[in-house]
Amino acid sequence: MKTLELANKYYNWMVELRRDFHRHPEPSFKEYRTSKRIKEELEKMGLQATTIGETGVVALLKGDKEGKVVALRADIDALSVNEETGLEFSSEVPGMMHACGHDCHAAMLLGAAKVLSEMKSELNGTVKFIFQPAEEMGSGAKKMVKEGVLENPKVDMIFGMHIWSDVPVGQVSLQPGPIMASGDVWKLTIKGKSCHGSSPWQGVDAITCATAVLQGFHTLATRVNDVRNPIVINVGTINAGERFNVVPAKAEITGMNRAFEEYSHSSMPKWMEKVIKNTCEAYGCEYDFKYDCICDPTINEEVSANLAKEAVEKLIGKENVINIEKVMGSEDFSEYLNHVPGALMFLGGRNEKKKCCYSHHSNFFNVDEDALPIGASSYAQVALDFLNR
Ligand SMILES: [Zn+2]
Ligand SMILES: [Zn+2]
Repeated sequence: MKTLELANKYYNWMVELRRDFHRHPEPSFKEYRTSKRIKEELEKMGLQATTIGETGVVALLKGDKEGKVVALRADIDALSVNEETGLEFSSEVPGMMHACGHDCHAAMLLGAAKVLSEMKSELNGTVKFIFQPAEEMGSGAKKMVKEGVLENPKVDMIFGMHIWSDVPVGQVSLQPGPIMASGDVWKLTIKGKSCHGSSPWQGVDAITCATAVLQGFHTLATRVNDVRNPIVINVGTINAGERFNVVPAKAEITGMNRAFEEYSHSSMPKWMEKVIKNTCEAYGCEYDFKYDCICDPTINEEVSANLAKEAVEKLIGKENVINIEKVMGSEDFSEYLNHVPGALMFLGGRNEKKKCCYSHHSNFFNVDEDALPIGASSYAQVALDFLNR
């Protein structure tokens, strides 16, 4: 396929870009250098690139013939993780690292822009390239959509990609339906009354109440939720108490929840509050409960997912397009899917021989760069097939 041939031709160029982004990782909404380099590269291709969403970039490639609009999205932010890979192109910013593969995403989408720019005469419509900030915060996509990235021209279908460390390089996972869970964060403060630890009846023990509340939370997942739709209620931190011989007046608990299905997703805060309210009443405590939905579940639209699957099969063969188990992690790509049909694919980046086998967000995370041309050509082929179908 021509897209793969062209992407292979730009292998070294993409590797150089990826390593440049890797050396200079930037946190969410502070991707100024990354965004500047992306803009420069797009301009060198003759594309007009615009800044949107603080540090996002959007560019349009108009085909020679009129038609629909397809968007391709890459996220570009890094994480506050200290790199320990020992790679010669390791992060030059202490405590900050591209530990999720977004450096590759940016390089691959630039690769796709280059490939498609050379195939302009074969394009019936417009390709919109979206370089999105702040995925790791879960709010980059929302900001981009709010600032109109899906409008002017209006996007008909959108495709995204995530490097995946569990999938071997050379393979892609693509399927319709739910693939990544929602992500909600919450904070609970339980308030009791402090007193001397030798006479607890004179106070109200916030820790005892908190432990009862937490037991109740874990019961929700298996006794209240329909277990055919899995949910996770994860209690991540508990902070309580001041001294071993004092009855604690306050317990602060934070956590994050995951779900795929709308009913469970929207019910979780209500279920939790019921447990909190009634347990606090029984123990004589008061409480404050804050619950925020950061991203919705990522549910691949069927037509888009099947179109993408066929496109990628042409590049790497049917046997290399697989279905992995849905992932309980979250992706703010879901925000685009709330507005337009589309699909997210997982691009294999795993290769044990090259020590590319650590999980996302690990200090040792790395990607087999042989994935870059597959990713760039997959982006390009999917766009081409959508516009020319
Ligand atoms: Zn990540
Ligand atoms: Zn990521």
